[in-house]
Amino acid sequence: MKVAIIGSGVSGLACAFRLNQLGIKPTIFEKRSIIGEAINLYGMHLNCFNLFTNNPLKFFEKEYNLKIAPMRPIKKITMYSGNKKITVKGGNLGCIFKRGPGFDSLERQLFDKVDAFFCFDVCVMPSIIDEIRKEFDAVVVATGGSDIPKHFDLMKSELIIQVRSGLIEGRFEPCQVFSWMKTGYSNDLYVCLIPVNENRAVITLLADDITPDELDYKWKKMIITENITNKILQTWDHEYRGGRLKMNQLGNLYFIGNAGGLTDDFMGFGIINGIISGIFAADAIVKRTDYQKSIQTILDRIDKIHNFKLLAEKSGKDIWKYMTGIVGFPGIRGIIYRKSLVKFYHIGGLIENLIKE
Ligand SMILES: Cc1cc2nc3c(=O)[nH]c(=O)nc-3n(C[C@H](O)[C@H](O)[C@H](O)COP(=O)(O)OP(=O)(O)OC[C@H]3O[C@@H](n4cnc5c(N)ncnc54)[C@H](O)[C@@H]3O)c2cc1C
Repeated sequence: MKVAIIGSGVSGLACAFRLNQLGIKPTIFEKRSIIGEAINLYGMHLNCFNLFTNNPLKFFEKEYNLKIAPMRPIKKITMYSGNKKITVKGGNLGCIFKRGPGFDSLERQLFDKVDAFFCFDVCVMPSIIDEIRKEFDAVVVATGGSDIPKHFDLMKSELIIQVRSGLIEGRFEPCQVFSWMKTGYSNDLYVCLIPVNENRAVITLLADDITPDELDYKWKKMIITENITNKILQTWDHEYRGGRLKMNQLGNLYFIGNAGGLTDDFMGFGIINGIISGIFAADAIVKRTDYQKSIQTILDRIDKIHNFKLLAEKSGKDIWKYMTGIVGFPGIRGIIYRKSLVKFYHIGGLIENLIKE
């Protein structure tokens, strides 16, 4: 069986890993000349935001013998919204991943486990997909963007987020992450700070409904509002384009990760969903399982999060005020962050009802 994967990000590599286990050596087309982003970035995974399983890393290891080592655990989360501040402490709140070309990055760890025909420096344009579809039995779209879904008229909704990350100097607790939710400068999104080590951290601003030109102003506003006096060593800009698809499979075309609309539009988390969708697509291709059905729970939960966000926007109410209010309630905070039963999409349902009332 001949399988092509377009894109060697986390989802494409996870798909290749699973295909190997099922006896297939795929061909991977990658527009860059290396694996992962050209720069070292850091991503986090919060257990309370799991959309699929309580402990995904354990799940990947147990079910698929896929061992992924995070850079370090998250033991403290501090969240600001307006004048509210909440800090949650615990042993297993989530973890931090290194991203990019470094030898211990998430992409690199996956790449080291994969046996594939890699075609670097090949940018697959949407117009040649049909040609590739004829050549291969299955084609997996893992480009992290919406160009190919758009070409096939598969977009149900599109989401464009401007992102700026800055490497800053200071004193940081390596296992503590910070977030500033729904601020005047991030519109409906947020800012997060992830420590690299005790002396450096990456601060990232995610803002929707703005153009790249407006990012400078929003960034400056963030620095002033939060009184960030740390030295900024470097910044990187990124435009995220994603959104929900009408369907994730079109004949022998499979859409996974960001390209499959599997990143939530609330926190912009997509690492874990990218990995699991890659695995499920490989199963669907080889074992003939129903790909759409296997990712449906995740999609439903992403929809749930999206719906209450929309509802809050329409009603003009500050969703984060509700969120921090509920999360900040003693007892509830611990249940959400530390225990596995209540997740943010459950809280989403609760807020949805509060707003409707
Ligand atoms: C700044 C930033 C911070 C983030 N932080 C977090 C976080 O903390 N936690 C979290 O869970 N998620 C986070 N995300 C989201 C997360 O990075 C994505 O959900 C995840 O990378 C999706 O993986 P993917 O494989 O679908 O796409 P990507 O990782 O984007 O990989 C796509 C790959 O396809 C290649 N490619 C693209 N187009 C083509 C083409 N036409 N032909 C060939 N190759 C192509 C690209 O070069 C790339 O290698 C963040 C995203 C950004 C931008």
